[in-house]
Amino acid sequence: MLKLTVDAARWRAHQQKVVEDCPGIVPVAKGNGYGFTNAVLAREASRLGCETLAVGIASEVAEVREAGFEGSVVVLNPWRPFDALATKLLSDARIITTVSRVDDLRRVAELAPSARVLVEVETSMHRHGISPDDVPRLDLGSLDVQGWTIHLPAAGSVEEARRLSLAVAEHPQGAKGIWFSHLSFDDARALAAELRMPVRMRVGTRLWLGDKGAYRATGTVLDVHRLPKGTACGYHGARTPADGCIVVVSGGTAHGVALAAPATAHSFKQRLIPIAEALDEVRGRVTSPFTVAGRKRPFAEPPHMHSSLVFVDGPGLPAQVGDEVPVTVRMTTTHFDEVQLA
Ligand SMILES: *Cc1c(COP(=O)(O)O)cnc(C)c1O
Repeated sequence: MLKLTVDAARWRAHQQKVVEDCPGIVPVAKGNGYGFTNAVLAREASRLGCETLAVGIASEVAEVREAGFEGSVVVLNPWRPFDALATKLLSDARIITTVSRVDDLRRVAELAPSARVLVEVETSMHRHGISPDDVPRLDLGSLDVQGWTIHLPAAGSVEEARRLSLAVAEHPQGAKGIWFSHLSFDDARALAAELRMPVRMRVGTRLWLGDKGAYRATGTVLDVHRLPKGTACGYHGARTPADGCIVVVSGGTAHGVALAAPATAHSFKQRLIPIAEALDEVRGRVTSPFTVAGRKRPFAEPPHMHSSLVFVDGPGLPAQVGDEVPVTVRMTTTHFDEVQLA
């Protein structure tokens, strides 16, 4: 079993701190729920007393509602005319729909004249949004505008936030306020004071993954086989490189284990790791994310759907069936079999 064990008290203490630091925070629960599942995050958001929660796409609304979230739900991905479920949700009084094109504003106003909407402004990400030049004169009809949304790049610059906010302020409904993503909490507070506008922040990573010591991922040892050097093993008959053990650990492609994380090398050490891994690859060994007997071990072959074969050289038995071994995962791409709040 691939398991995520959460130190609930520590995790919640971190969440509490973030919420205090960021008044009006809108927690984000989307995708795999940052590893915790959207249902768990929805319950945490309720427990934090947040009356608004953001999800990524329309189909995630049901996940957070089934988990008991009763407040308003913002759908972050902007509405498009071909999304039937998002269209159905337009007239739901507890849904806030993001609209990011002038044509879509017109269409939404026809379909659901009093829909609650956030109007998205195009940023330097150039993902979605109405050009800031068009913002001051936008016709919003009778739509129930909850605010404007500005989704900045990962390290959002306060200058860009200010410039776009000033464009919003020119609109008659500019005072409804701005919902930012990816601005520092200090910058958000300073901007709110400077512009005299309500400001809210949508936060996922800093809220759920900000205290890395509050959770840990483990795989379970399912089998251990001692084999002499040169024994063929696995689907592809790869030969064991030395005397040692094949250790079968739960956690495979279905869980998202060992998906290559995008390389944004910041430090020299981080740059060296791919080099070390590339050298291992030349030798026919790829470092697995599993730590067995104190070290990251190479894959004996590419991971299977639900388990992985890793090779541990040396004498004796490095692990017992049932042992839980640490596994390095990328939290936004991993599906755990169990999330345990301890
Ligand atoms: C996913 C998302 C967020 C949350 O991003 P984090 O980096 O996880 O905090 C915020 N805003 C928008 C529009 C998003 O799509």
